Amino acid sequence: MQSAVDTFQGDGPDREFQNYLGRGEFRLQQCQACNETIFYPRVLCPHCGGFDLQWRLVSGEGVVYSTTVVRRREEKGGPYNVAIIELAEGPRMMSRVEGIAADKVNIGSAVKARIATESQPQGERHIVLFDLAEAGSSGVANAGGGAG
Ligand SMILES: [Zn+2]
Repeated sequence: MQSAVDTFQGDGPDREFQNYLGRGEFRLQQCQACNETIFYPRVLCPHCGGFDLQWRLVSGEGVVYSTTVVRRREEKGGPYNVAIIELAEGPRMMSRVEGIAADKVNIGSAVKARIATESQPQGERHIVLFDLAEAGSSGVANAGGGAG
């Protein structure tokens, strides 16, 4: 068997992640050896080195782990928020919390993922953004799971 690292050509996990987002599915890899959920997409589990990684639908729920206001000229859209979100499944991802003033995002706030599409020089790219989770609009009780 060849090394998964040596044969990886760069059009793998991140492309798959993009493809899922394009279909409206927020999926992250889960290692079948140690059960850790992984972000950023990759070919080897960073926890145990396993390479049997399965794409699993995640809840999109998380909390703000850290937050920063990035200052930007008003004519370019004004200041925006950059936050590290700790997902319910474990991994942390850098993103933005939207729908709220950039400096009003608080560490520990519950947030919910949303898939958005941004135009970039290389073309359209799907990204995961976060909104504050609405207190009261529950109904996310979900016995999902199931191996695909
Ligand atoms: Zn693992």
